[in-house]
Amino acid sequence: MKYLFYSTLIYFFASQSVALATSDTLYIVYTANINGMIQNCNCGKEPLGGMGRVKSYIDKVRSESKHILVMDGGDYFNTYPYLELNQALAKVQQLVKYDVILPGDQAFVEGLSFFTELQQKNGMNWVISNFKNFTQKSKKINFVSFDVEVYGYLSPGSFSFITLPDNQKLLSYDELPATDLAMGEKNLNIMIVHGNEEDAISIRDYYPGIDLILTAHTQNQKARNFSHTPIVGCGKDGEYIALIKAYLDESKWKFEIVFEKMHSGIADDLSVLSIIEEFELSKTD
Ligand SMILES: [Zn+2]
Repeated sequence: MKYLFYSTLIYFFASQSVALATSDTLYIVYTANINGMIQNCNCGKEPLGGMGRVKSYIDKVRSESKHILVMDGGDYFNTYPYLELNQALAKVQQLVKYDVILPGDQAFVEGLSFFTELQQKNGMNWVISNFKNFTQKSKKINFVSFDVEVYGYLSPGSFSFITLPDNQKLLSYDELPATDLAMGEKNLNIMIVHGNEEDAISIRDYYPGIDLILTAHTQNQKARNFSHTPIVGCGKDGEYIALIKAYLDESKWKFEIVFEKMHSGIADDLSVLSIIEEFELSKTD
């Protein structure tokens, strides 16, 4: 596939470049910390972001690549209650058709009933490995020559300005039943960590079977290697998306990571624009 639009830094976590068959390559598109920014802020020199651009970008990657996994690490919703906006965001999230979503603390911003309704709509794609009342502890996706398993850790510590409802219980990573995180050696094991940097590093130490960690809640936009495992965060407000190319090289997973800028050259998706228009009208009613 051609490299898309234009990008900032490229990080290679690969020992050598190899000629690849398309069937062995997986493209991972990762968003996190959208923070309710359904539109770009129209601020600064070049306003970045907006879910219309994000959806157009994802659709383009989907049209160009055979093996693709689209994931969100949470804090997609607004940081404070704003029902009309959060409902519009929920509609957009469904349109994007994420393969995996780890709902962060901000998915509770409108209370438990909003969360439960979202869960019912998106249940197949939601993953929380450490939520006691939640059945989907991981999601396995079968590709032709490999399997991917995605886990999601929602750190209890991420609930500071949003409160976890009383009857909901999150376990710490070291309290999880081993069967919930039985990582197969032939899989590409991905862990989304919704929490801080220390959570990501502690979890990597505790579960050495993890091949790739994606971070959310912490809003860093960076990729780094920790004990041979890339830890990748894509920033905030939908300004950048992480595009990760993963491939097997002599039975080891290798990764190339690019941060794609959501700039004005990317046309807004029309179906997202109509949801935004509807939301704007609801404000003037
Ligand atoms: Zn969060």
